[in-house]
Parts: sequence; C-alpha cells; structure tokens
Amino acid sequence: MPLDDYRRKRDFAKTPEPSGDRTRRARKTRTPKPLHFCVQKHLASRLHYDLRLEHGGVLLSWAVPKGPSLDPRDKHMAVRTEDHPYDYGDFEGVIPEGYGAGVVMLWDYGTWQPEVPDIDAALDTGDLKFTLDGYKLKGSWVLVRTRDRPGTAASQKGRSWLLIKHRDHWSGPLDITTFAPLSVKSEGDFDDILAAELPDTWVTGRPGTGGVPNKMLRDVVAKAAAKIVNRENAPESIAPRAARAKKRKSTRG
Ligand code: MN
Repeated sequence: MPLDDYRRKRDFAKTPEPSGDRTRRARKTRTPKPLHFCVQKHLASRLHYDLRLEHGGVLLSWAVPKGPSLDPRDKHMAVRTEDHPYDYGDFEGVIPEGYGAGVVMLWDYGTWQPEVPDIDAALDTGDLKFTLDGYKLKGSWVLVRTRDRPGTAASQKGRSWLLIKHRDHWSGPLDITTFAPLSVKSEGDFDDILAAELPDTWVTGRPGTGGVPNKMLRDVVAKAAAKIVNRENAPESIAPRAARAKKRKSTRG
C-alpha cells in the first residue's frame, strides 16, 4: 500500500492531518486532466518545505530544508519522504503532537506536468523533469537523485535528491521564499495559522510533545498567543455588548 509509511507514523485520533482513507483513484496516464502539486512550509523540529507531486492517486513527497530556489545555480537538497494522501494537498493547520508536530502552511499550490513519458521510470532512474504551474513556482524543474553517502542507513538509501530550477522564463535571482513567505490559502503567516486554530491545540503551550520545540516555533506560538489575546480584548468585541446593554437601559428608562 502506497500510504503505509504515512499511516504508520501517525495517530489519526491525535492529529488533524487527513488519514488518506479517501485515496484518489489513480488516473490513467492518458487522461489530460492536470495533476496537482503543492509546497507546504512546515515548521516542525526544523523549518522545511515539503514538495508534493500528485501521482498514482497519492502525493510523491520531498522535504526541502532550504526551500525551492528560482536560481538554476542552486542545487537544494530534497529528501524523499513517504507518499502522502491526495487529500493532504490543501492541508494547512496545526499538527499538535506526534510525527511532524508543528505548523503547516500551504505555501504554494497548482498543477504540474511531467516532462518525461513515464513518471515511475523517472523515479527509478532518479531523474524527474517536470513543469510547475503554481502561484509562486512556475516553469521547468528537475529532481535528481544523488549517490548515497557511505554508511547511509538502509532505510534512508535512495532518499537523497536535489531540486534544481531549469533556466527559463521563470528562473532568476529572486529569493522566492523571502519574497513570498505567506500562505496561498489563508494569506497568513505561521502565527496567524496557529491563532486561527481551536485554542486547545495551542493554549497548553505545547505545540509538539516528544521533543523541545525550536526557538522559531516558540516565537510563533508566543506571537499567536498575543494575537488571540489582542483579538479577545479588541474594542470591537466589547462594543456590541456595551451597545446592547445601553439599548436595554434606554428602553427601560
Ligand atoms: Mn514536513
């Protein structure tokens, strides 16, 4: 089963992430319907960007610590991770505990097209060329598998890839992760996503158990908490109550 690894690492009673029970029916290769892709900016034990490409009803996944670069000279490490359910592709929110605990932002979203006739063969060869049509990422890219370092654990073998932008109309020196850091779904930053969540996912101050949250995550939690406090103390939320009280008084008087 393609999602076995994904499910094994998660307790769906405890995480809001989709379980992938509704696996999308794999599409026939000749179907001209577009395939979806997404990049999820994931603040977990470390910040990274998860690139996911729809294929065979699931999302092929790579974790890119530095994020995608539009500069063809940059070869950014991309670690192949377990396939994710198709439904995961528009997930944005908080993973309160367990595997990948932290905050997930939908950083980019769109469609992708392989530039190779056979995706599985390209994965086997370790050379997948493709075109992205997202809000932020466009044009031609390649994922190239690199040789394993000596001593790489068996479970990690073949997981090391590089993500490289091809030179085209959409390449250039613009630092896209800095230029466009926010969500394409909510338009918010990590703290906004956290502040929009139900309080019990954050109020305990424990965005993740089983590890010390890093400083960046702690800062985001503090910012989100401040936003919620400010919102609750905002004059607008008091004003209607005051207005109602005044109105009652005046009708009595
Ligand atoms: Mn991740």
